[in-house]
Amino acid sequence: MKTGRSIWAGLATMVLAIVATTAAIFGLRELVPVVSTGVLYLLAVLLVSTYWGLWLGVLTSLLSAAAFNWFHIPPTGRFVVAESENWVALGVYLVTALVVSTLANAARTRTEEAERRREEIAEAMAELEALSRERDRMQAEAVEAEALRRSDELKTALLRAVSHDLRTPLTSVIAAGAALGSASLSEEERSELSAAVVAEGDRLSRLVENLLDVSRLEGGEAAPHREPVDIAEVLEAARESLGEEREAVQLRVRGELPTLEADAAQLERAFANLLENGVLHGGGRPVQARCRLVGSRLVVRVVDQGPGIPEQERKRIFEPFYRAGNGATSQAGSGLGLAIAKGFIEANGGEIEVESMPGQGSTFVVSFSVSRTV
Ligand code: ADP
Repeated sequence: MKTGRSIWAGLATMVLAIVATTAAIFGLRELVPVVSTGVLYLLAVLLVSTYWGLWLGVLTSLLSAAAFNWFHIPPTGRFVVAESENWVALGVYLVTALVVSTLANAARTRTEEAERRREEIAEAMAELEALSRERDRMQAEAVEAEALRRSDELKTALLRAVSHDLRTPLTSVIAAGAALGSASLSEEERSELSAAVVAEGDRLSRLVENLLDVSRLEGGEAAPHREPVDIAEVLEAARESLGEEREAVQLRVRGELPTLEADAAQLERAFANLLENGVLHGGGRPVQARCRLVGSRLVVRVVDQGPGIPEQERKRIFEPFYRAGNGATSQAGSGLGLAIAKGFIEANGGEIEVESMPGQGSTFVVSFSVSRTV
């Protein structure tokens, strides 16, 4: 039985307690009958059993019984137990030692157990905390690394776009400009060259506008100016912005539609890009923009009858500078149109996804949740 206390201190306490009790009984002899003073030894037994456990408790009982017998029970100076009540006293001492030490030991064990559990829980909590700190750190690092990778990719793509997409129209503008200076040009050649300068200039200005939009969206600086917006008017304006190509776009708005709280100019840019792509990839067949209310969502579908988009490309086409496929049309743009469309649509609380059956065309589905119906 482990008590955690020194055995020598126990023995010393036992001897002291027994000597003190024996001496005290000598003092009380005149006042009370000797037999009833024997109960005082119980104090020594209690003390030792509580703090030093069963075996020292039993030893204290035996020595108490012996001391009582030797010094106080007639005939004194001998170990003779003449009266049966002295056996009873010894029995009581032993039982007390047994009970008290068992109880004290159980209490000690419970305390130690509780203390150990508390330590285990504290250790587990500390481990959990360390783990969660480690996880947070790793997550932060991963996010940082991902942001760095993205910004690196963007920078590379931007350089590529600037070096290729800006240089091509610039070369044409410079060549046409130089040719315009020639004196031997016919009127027709002159107007062709000037039209080429305007067209390439337009292309440049669109590209620069796109680059600015993407950098605003990436930098989180494209906060929409929200106001009540009529989606049919936005689609019409987007169609108009296509110039001559607008003829290929058919608008179909079903029923009365609720207004959206959105930035009309941003949505117009987004839908213009979708319509432009539809016309560009639509193989000369008409592009439809259909709009209707589906439950609590306003849904716009831009449907073309072009070659469609293979499944592995569908996620990536929304990334800035990504150009899918290797057909001639895929090289025409800068790969920014869909990134801008998605950025503006999401900034205005909408969602965009693409459905496509390769060979049968693509459908870009844009939806906004509307709180009230018409
Ligand atoms: P770009 O401005 O170069 O057109 P986008 O971001 O608009 O770039 O489109 C990215 C790619 O997605 C394009 O290179 C094109 O291959 C593909 N894509 C976009 N719209 C369509 C469409 N309606 N049909 C087929 N492919 C499309």
